[in-house]
Amino acid sequence: MNCHFDVPALPPVSQPEAMARLQSILLDDVEHWMGPRDRSDACLPPGFRAGPAWAWMTPLGAIAELSPESAQSWQFAVFELAHECVHLANRPLGGASRMEEGAATLYGLPACISIFDGRFLPVLKNGDPYADAMRLVSRMGRQPMAALKAVRREAGNFRYSTPQIVVEAVPGIDHSLAHRLCARFTEALT
Ligand SMILES: [Zn+2]
Repeated sequence: MNCHFDVPALPPVSQPEAMARLQSILLDDVEHWMGPRDRSDACLPPGFRAGPAWAWMTPLGAIAELSPESAQSWQFAVFELAHECVHLANRPLGGASRMEEGAATLYGLPACISIFDGRFLPVLKNGDPYADAMRLVSRMGRQPMAALKAVRREAGNFRYSTPQIVVEAVPGIDHSLAHRLCARFTEALT
């Protein structure tokens, strides 16, 4: 799917309406790639914070808050918000598996390619745990996004995925890979 978003000339932090529009475009695109999103609570317009990007549940609904780099750069903002939109689509938030973090990181790439027309691609450093999780997801088959969608179709959500569900949803997948994908992201990669 091609996401169309007119990138404003002014920085993201000064463009709340454009940020809200971008989030809505990305959430629709996440559904296209990975299947229906969680709509159990409201999704608030995105914001910014002093630390790294995250998504969390406020009393009023779920919100993605992006890093100071994203406040100033549309390239960072698109990459970070694309990642957080995968989390917003897979609630409850927090305690994500390697599969969910890998999917979120992987999805940032087509989102950036689509919105910046191939002129910007984020660089992921070797040894970055998010890049490692993305590599695990990339091993799910020739079309990792389709494999992720199949897992979500069976499990309802990344959170409820088990190695058994992954093995059933993705024919031919290695069993040890299925276990590694379902482990919590915060556990050391093995
Ligand atoms: Zn994440």
